[in-house]
Amino acid sequence: MLHGLNELVVRGKRYLLVGVSSSHIARLAEGDEPGRPALAEGRTGTEPWATRYDLGALLDPIWNHRTLCGREWIEMEPGEGPPFDGWGTGVYAPHCRNCLRILSSGLESIAPDERIPLIVATLSWVHWFNEDRLHGHCADVPPAEFEAAFYAAQQAAPTGVGNQ
Ligand SMILES: [Zn+2]
Repeated sequence: MLHGLNELVVRGKRYLLVGVSSSHIARLAEGDEPGRPALAEGRTGTEPWATRYDLGALLDPIWNHRTLCGREWIEMEPGEGPPFDGWGTGVYAPHCRNCLRILSSGLESIAPDERIPLIVATLSWVHWFNEDRLHGHCADVPPAEFEAAFYAAQQAAPTGVGNQ
C-alpha cells in the first residue's frame, strides 16, 4: 500500500505537495479555517488508481485551501503513487520558489558562531605578526631590535638637538 499522501514534514509541521500549474506547498488548516481534502472535487474513489492509495487519508479535509504562496490549488501531487489523471508522473518536490521561500522563512536561522570574532582577531594578529611586523615601516627590523636601537640612540643623544 502506498503512503496515500505526498506529505512533507518540516520541523514537526505537516505540508502537502499540491498542484496548480506547477507544484506548490499547502499547509494544514488551523483553528476555524475550513479544510479541504487532498483530492480534487468530484473524485469518487472508484478510479483505477484508488486501490493503491489510502483513500481515508486522501479524503480527510484537513488542508488549507490555498498554497503557501496564496493560490487556490487543484489536487495533491501523486508522489510515488499512480497519477490521478492518467498522464502525469510523480512529483516529489515543489517547483514554486515563493512557496519554498515562505516555508524556509519559518525555519530558525542558524545562530552566529561566537567564535568567529575571535578567529578574525587571531587571523588579523597572525597577519600583522607575519607581514607588517617584519616587513613594515621599521626598515625590516623586528620590534624588539628596533626598540633597543631606539633607546640606544636616545642614550647617545638624550637631550636631542632642540636645546642647542
Ligand atoms: Zn507556490
